[in-house]
Amino acid sequence: MSFQVFGIPVSRGVAIGRAVLVASSRVDVAHYFIDPAHVPSEIKRALRARDEVARELESLKEDMPEDAPHELAALLDVHLMLLHDEALLGATRQWIVERHYNAEWALSAQLEVLARQFDEMEDDYLRERKADLEQVVERLLGAMAAEQGGAKVGAAQVVQRDFAGEDPLLLVAADIAPADMMQFKRSVFHGFITDIGGKTSHTAIVARSMDIPAVVGTREASRLIRQDDWVIIDGDSGVVIVNPSPIVLEEYRFRQRQSELERARLARLRHTPAVTLDGERIELHANIELPADAAAAVEAGATGVGLFRSEFLFMNRDGELPSEEEQFQAYKAAVEAMKGMPVTIRTVDVGADKPLERLSANELRHEHVLNPAMGLRAIRWSLAEPSMFRQQLRAIYRASAFGKIRLLIPMVAHLSEIRQILDTLRRVKQQLDDNGQPYTQVELGVMIEIPAAAVMLPLLLPHVDFVSIGTNDLIQYTLAIDRADEAVAHLYDPWHPAVLQLIASSISQARAAGKSVSVCGEMAGDAVFTDLLLAMGLRNFSMHPSQIPSVKQRILRADSQKLKAALPAILSSEDPEKTASLAFAANSQRMH
Ligand code: PEP
Ligand code: MG
Repeated sequence: MSFQVFGIPVSRGVAIGRAVLVASSRVDVAHYFIDPAHVPSEIKRALRARDEVARELESLKEDMPEDAPHELAALLDVHLMLLHDEALLGATRQWIVERHYNAEWALSAQLEVLARQFDEMEDDYLRERKADLEQVVERLLGAMAAEQGGAKVGAAQVVQRDFAGEDPLLLVAADIAPADMMQFKRSVFHGFITDIGGKTSHTAIVARSMDIPAVVGTREASRLIRQDDWVIIDGDSGVVIVNPSPIVLEEYRFRQRQSELERARLARLRHTPAVTLDGERIELHANIELPADAAAAVEAGATGVGLFRSEFLFMNRDGELPSEEEQFQAYKAAVEAMKGMPVTIRTVDVGADKPLERLSANELRHEHVLNPAMGLRAIRWSLAEPSMFRQQLRAIYRASAFGKIRLLIPMVAHLSEIRQILDTLRRVKQQLDDNGQPYTQVELGVMIEIPAAAVMLPLLLPHVDFVSIGTNDLIQYTLAIDRADEAVAHLYDPWHPAVLQLIASSISQARAAGKSVSVCGEMAGDAVFTDLLLAMGLRNFSMHPSQIPSVKQRILRADSQKLKAALPAILSSEDPEKTASLAFAANSQRMH
């Protein structure tokens, strides 16, 4: 039966493929594709785990004390029966053979299928056997982990495969932590659907950086969609169509081809400089998560990296932090890949929906910290961990010997933080001098993402070389809307007059002080806001590489002086979005 699920569109385009369900409770299970040549050995691994668990259960039964309740033995029999049921391991084998999932993934995929069948049972007693099934699967996963010496399979072992000719796969999950999203970044999924999340949650941001269609905040997609269902993701409107009819499928295949043609057309702008009709040169920088992303930035025609979210180097490491040397190599690689163009490295911004541990944003929100978005995140965490902070700064400074680096500090709200940072920088440079380690001048910038920083900007500016406006957090904190919470996503409004005033005044104050200013939040990469930001005087935008062509196209058609003339009316309007759309439409008509 065909049906639709609605969510929040976060990454454009159309994806068509088969659903792969990943349960968030088992998100710690490694999901990777095995080489087809390893199918037999992977099946053997699953079977060895089955034999091991069977031995465990048998010996539990044998060692049961005389006076143990009779139900206990019966329960172990149920577990043994489930363990040997073909519906569990027989079908797991199929996932390995047909889809080349690793054994843990295949097992959890089959658990999803069976758990739903149990959920639908009328009989209470049978329905409750789902818990037994889960326990058996947990034992099997434990046996597999023990066989590998407890080692988790990291991203490095994810097998890259060319899936040409096979059905594309779409990932469906209740929630995906940004750390897991990073694993999938090197994977083969063609689209993502989650129950949780907002337009600027970090899971959405990583999906956008992968430039594949994604819909978040669907609330129940992971409950309604089944393993292997055919699914269409409409990343433009936020609609997910499950088991589409042939006519609908054909319509979406047509749209998919159209959007590929449009992308190819825009890609031709790659080497065209971003200059407005009235001759204003605009810098289009890239947001990256890993050094390897720099290649896509260069390919898209970026003139620098405006935001390297260094915290992604700190994820998927089982609690261990990257060493100074490892960080140095990563920053150096990014700088070298950018071939002399500037690279803005933001110091680690963990916390809120980017936990270091592999917890989902939801777990973090509800179980671990009182109010993570307002807690010990970003620069607050760095200042609370001075040796970690110095280590990162040393690595960044050392990389400056290989290219142009700018240092960006997230979440600044107090002048005292800037003083502490300057003090730490003095110590770091002294250490490098003492060790004879070379570095060059590094510009210092702060992110404007807390309203307090925007309001007191004239006091901050004398201490820094540049500022970068993080609209994602600035909107979150100005409107008191958790950016990752789909329940309030409708109130997350970049067009809110208070938000626009803070952005406009930050840009004009920085420019008046002769300091460079950029926007690196998601607004910068959304062509809907390009005219508005140009009108505010912005000349430096930073965004996902894939967004550069569409923003550049708007810039090439814009007259910054005419746009600027419309700004006062927009900023004083009760409905800025409408006023802007009328003013900018009139502007572009005049231009034709
Ligand atoms: C922002 O807040 O706008 C920003 C760019 O930082 P992040 O999205 O990583 O919080
Ligand atoms: Mg931020």
